[in-house]
Amino acid sequence: MEPIAWPDGKRFAFTVFDDPDGQSLSTGHVVYGLLRDLGLRTTKGVWTLPAADVPSEYGITCGEPAALAWFQELQKAGFEIGYHNATLRTSPREDTELALRRFAEFFGDQPITMAQHYDCDENVYWGDERLTGWRRGVYNLATRFANHHKFKGSTEGHPYYWADLCHTRVQYLRNFVFGDINTLKSCPMMPYHDPRTPLVRFWYASSGGANVTAARRLLHEANQDRLEAEGGACILYTHFGHGYVEGGAMDRRVRDLLGRLSRKNGWFAPVATLLTFLRNRGSPHRLTDAERRALEWKWLREKLTSGTA
Ligand SMILES: [Zn+2]
Repeated sequence: MEPIAWPDGKRFAFTVFDDPDGQSLSTGHVVYGLLRDLGLRTTKGVWTLPAADVPSEYGITCGEPAALAWFQELQKAGFEIGYHNATLRTSPREDTELALRRFAEFFGDQPITMAQHYDCDENVYWGDERLTGWRRGVYNLATRFANHHKFKGSTEGHPYYWADLCHTRVQYLRNFVFGDINTLKSCPMMPYHDPRTPLVRFWYASSGGANVTAARRLLHEANQDRLEAEGGACILYTHFGHGYVEGGAMDRRVRDLLGRLSRKNGWFAPVATLLTFLRNRGSPHRLTDAERRALEWKWLREKLTSGTA
């Protein structure tokens, strides 16, 4: 792969999409206080609406005035606010429509970077629809058909359908998560459009780090140094609400690792800024059948051996 000339002579890129699962306001303050001090500007995923009934997860939403004010403050400080479905559980189309309208009111009417919450049946092209051919069969056997025809967001006419709204509003949607810190090495064509999933404008990949333990591993010194040497880009997939803050303090190991990373000559911009930069390097990438097969197989192989998202 040709080395990328990052902006301002930077040697590599690093950012985060933080899914809001399990995150309280006090946890958020600790984590984002650190990121802000270190000069890392990343993407904070939010739920727009409060959960109507018993949620499957805990986590603050824009439905709480104090949380909304804090999200808006983060946005002013240069963080991107990303979208993590309407709320913590499955939403019908009218709720998704309302959530997208509210999101625009709260954060401005710009194209959205999104990561889908695992437990929302309105997800688009999700579950076994992420794969084609025999790979779908292998995936269904490995997951005991738990995600077979489960997700309805791209099924026209279904009450959960919203893929048309996704096409209008969402610019970048997360798909495969890989184990290598250098996301670009796993998915050099990102952001890419897949003609098989026409209502998603662009997909992007990420590197997993789902919780504090996985993040300690991914952000290990040797991996940081390799990311830098390869001139790559990392989009960390994580939940800052999952174990990063104990007793009001940031996990020391992750704090040190992020500090070390921040002192390198890296480009630390939010996910949309990074993806738009990559997209503008040439004409938008249209995924070929061969690329799709290779990407799916790489992800499936990693999923079967290490259980990535
Ligand atoms: Zn989630």
